Amino acid sequence: MTTITLVQGDITRQSADAIVNAANSSLLGGGGVDGAIHRRGGPAVLADCRALRASRYGKGLPTGRAVATTAGDLDARWVIHTVGPVWSATEDRSDLLASCYRESLRVADELGARTVAFPAVSTGVYRWPMEDAARIAVAAVRSAPTSVEEARFVLFDERAYEAFAAQLR
Ligand code: ADP
Repeated sequence: MTTITLVQGDITRQSADAIVNAANSSLLGGGGVDGAIHRRGGPAVLADCRALRASRYGKGLPTGRAVATTAGDLDARWVIHTVGPVWSATEDRSDLLASCYRESLRVADELGARTVAFPAVSTGVYRWPMEDAARIAVAAVRSAPTSVEEARFVLFDERAYEAFAAQLR
């Protein structure tokens, strides 16, 4: 049984076995939560990302997939980078967003991570509406076959926190 917990705050301040990053496909860092994770995680995270690009993901990490690196100076053992889909009003990309959570949990299981902290993937620069993203995220984690004991959603502001809380009520 996976327990879902909610926290409002900065994911880079969390202590967990694995911290999930809403990365972009290049794996070279960006804005939002990605920038914050690289800033606080330090150069070791970027070095691992560069190595992954050189070895397995020369064309980028595909949307909906996940891959782990060291967590550097973060209070975690791993960062799991996942690439969310950009919101589209004309195309249903929900399964790709759900896949980010499923794949992150699958990678967490491979690593033996018991506690995993997630941001609200795709709800920033990728513009996914928060309520819909929360519904997809919670359903994906609830239905995932995983040994992770705690899946913790770390929501940056009150609006995001409330959207996720509504899904758990
Ligand atoms: P994406 O490109 O997947 O949309 P963003 O990083 O732009 O990713 O935003 C994803 C979500 O993460 C947004 O809801 C944003 O408010 C939130 N966010 C940004 N910085 C942090 C942080 N330090 N901790 C937790 N959540 C964050």
